Amino acid sequence: MKRLNIHEVNDVRLDDYVLPNAGPKDVVLKMKACGICGSDLSYIKWGGIMREEGGVTALGHEGAGEVLSVGSEVSGVAVGDAVIVNPMATPSNIGSGGTEGAFVDQLLVREAEKGKSLLPIPEGVSYYVAAMCEPLAVAMHGVNRAQAKAGQKVVVFGCGPIGLGMVLWLADRGVEELIAVDLSDGRLERARALGAKYTINPSREDLREKVMEYHGQGADMIGQPRADTDAFLDAAGAPQIIPQAIRMAKAHARIVITAVYHGDIQTPLGEMLTSEVEITSAIGYPTEMPEVVAAMPRLKDKIASMISHRLPFESVLDGLKIAGTPESAKVMIEFGDA
Ligand SMILES: [Zn+2]
Repeated sequence: MKRLNIHEVNDVRLDDYVLPNAGPKDVVLKMKACGICGSDLSYIKWGGIMREEGGVTALGHEGAGEVLSVGSEVSGVAVGDAVIVNPMATPSNIGSGGTEGAFVDQLLVREAEKGKSLLPIPEGVSYYVAAMCEPLAVAMHGVNRAQAKAGQKVVVFGCGPIGLGMVLWLADRGVEELIAVDLSDGRLERARALGAKYTINPSREDLREKVMEYHGQGADMIGQPRADTDAFLDAAGAPQIIPQAIRMAKAHARIVITAVYHGDIQTPLGEMLTSEVEITSAIGYPTEMPEVVAAMPRLKDKIASMISHRLPFESVLDGLKIAGTPESAKVMIEFGDA
């Protein structure tokens, strides 16, 4: 059995692994699919997360698998069940600094609970689509924090897997005046296919001018021209995005930060004063996973289109390299006969 571990900064290895003994509250899964996340790449750059000296960080938090064994005190879960893992609902914080990671042949899910840490995969949904649940839940939480509704005008910055997920949910909720922004034309094409009516590539287009053109002109509280955009969602994390959004924001627009920032950014507070813009952030998916799972049968083809690469577990190190290139979308790792 193998598991993907970070040992040091930029040192990630597929190591031999022995499954710990499962207790009466635990479930063991035969992993079937696990997506590579942008945060996996960050953890590798940082040399792990919450890693003890000489220890490793096990990677993988976007997993789906088949139940291999069930502890005597676990109810509602049976051998052979197809399930999605909610890593945030496990005591071992799977793949984000805890004792387990889902890039592994067999995964120990400690204190497993149906409906919480293990969500049944709906009929007709494949494992690789099911494994999109985690990033799609992150994206849905960002959309929820933006309070985006049908008929509104929204801008999404960044068309990696999270930004694409936001486009998917916004379009699904009836947001038609939807602009996607990215530096990669390939990513913008995916965004258009998922429901973005307009796309902007700021490497050759003036962002503010284009947003004003597509969304029309609104105003701040004192009547100065601003974009008529209701919400800006940041899934990119470039330092110029928030200042640009603040300068464009009309009265009572919302800005939601889902991206990971590593340093401080300059904020044009003067221009913020006149718009009463609301800036907030979105982390994880406190409530969204069940709704994502319920939507999967309806949206499975669109979800599958967000996956740019499917690789076997043996090639996970190649997958990590691919995931770092701007033309990739979700890189999905599959195990055995998944
Ligand atoms: Zn993730």
